[in-house]
Amino acid sequence: MSTAYLPTTINDSDHTVLRGAALIDGNGGDPLSSAEIEIKGGRIVYAGPERTEGTSSAGEGHDTGGKAPRVIDLQGKTIMPGFIDSHVHFGLSIENQAANLARFASERIVRSAVNARATLMAGVTTARDLGGTDRGVRDSIQQGLILGPRMHLAITPLSPTGGHTDFTMPNGLSTMPAMPVDPIIDTDDDVRRTIRTLVRSGADVIKVCTTGGVSSPSDTPDDIGVPEEHVRLIVEETAKRAGQPVAAHAQGADGIKAAIRGGVRSVEHGYGIDDEGIELMLERGTFLVPTLSSALRIPDPKNVPDYLYEKKVRWSAIARERVAVAMAAGVKVALGTDAGVCPHGLNLREEMHAVELGLTPMQAIVAGTRNAAELLRLSADVGTLEEGKLADLVIVDFDPLADITQLADPAKIKVVMQGGALMKDSASWFPSAPVRSLLG
Ligand SMILES: [Zn+2]
Repeated sequence: MSTAYLPTTINDSDHTVLRGAALIDGNGGDPLSSAEIEIKGGRIVYAGPERTEGTSSAGEGHDTGGKAPRVIDLQGKTIMPGFIDSHVHFGLSIENQAANLARFASERIVRSAVNARATLMAGVTTARDLGGTDRGVRDSIQQGLILGPRMHLAITPLSPTGGHTDFTMPNGLSTMPAMPVDPIIDTDDDVRRTIRTLVRSGADVIKVCTTGGVSSPSDTPDDIGVPEEHVRLIVEETAKRAGQPVAAHAQGADGIKAAIRGGVRSVEHGYGIDDEGIELMLERGTFLVPTLSSALRIPDPKNVPDYLYEKKVRWSAIARERVAVAMAAGVKVALGTDAGVCPHGLNLREEMHAVELGLTPMQAIVAGTRNAAELLRLSADVGTLEEGKLADLVIVDFDPLADITQLADPAKIKVVMQGGALMKDSASWFPSAPVRSLLG
């Protein structure tokens, strides 16, 4: 598995020093009040207290062939790691299924690109797409053809016939455009063949649905989907390859436990988790990606079918109660929105919702940065602002620890840097630096 999908657009000679901002490095410790970050060739070569002139290579310009680095004064601002959304669907906009089905395939791809760009501009520099996106989108971002978060892909989420990702109506027609790989697994042979096909297709993660869901018409979150023995078989198959992590869409208590016992790395949603499930997660170090941006959002009953509205009201209340219990128990949380089910480009609302359910603002930031990087197995490159890591960061002019809700507004995310390249600078804090503007 390729590690971080480094953009190939990094300018090796680029040398920048960020001075004077408060630094929240993603590790959860107290912020540094007056920090310095030095970036060279897309990576951080220094992150710590502001250095005095003379000790800093920034002041002297050595090691750069005599060319002094660009020094940016960021007094009064706050720097955080680029955020990671562990659960998006760039190809999806679920509240208008009929319109989506009527679109040309090319239009869907363009929309995916627009969604990816909006996500990056909201402060998300890495995202994991858990279904519906093929590697053309991921690779186009990596090659610098379009702007977006560096991506990990599940490509196609798996379920049995009649399960959460079987979009076949009783009359045999589909409610969704065809998936890049057939999502149905009923037998052991189906499981092996499908996992091998997904790996061949470039999947970085395998997504299984061990329960039904809220948005699907013919099942409920309490229904069991992919059984525990098939989850185990998938974990065995991926272990023979690159060890692609397995993520389970799991909402009802029994399917959540089946997923954990089968060996998944993350439970996605986890709304109805019971005490036994929480114990199992703590024991095994399983991550919870609670997708609160979707769970807590009640749609206008005029815009959605009755079944969906009713299930949403019921499961939203369950999530509010049980995810809070899991968080308080210390389950490892990584943030993800399920964007596609909720709007794209408002991803950092998830930070606010995590605090609403009991995390401290600092814990919520760690959940959206370091923890998510650990879940994606990208800790060597992203998730924290430390020497050696990629320069993926966001800069704001408020204190997110005092008011986390401000992160939710993408207009307040003034600077987004990805691998040292400036992707957004809406307040012109980097006067002489070029901002990337493809698909601008
Ligand atoms: Zn999802």
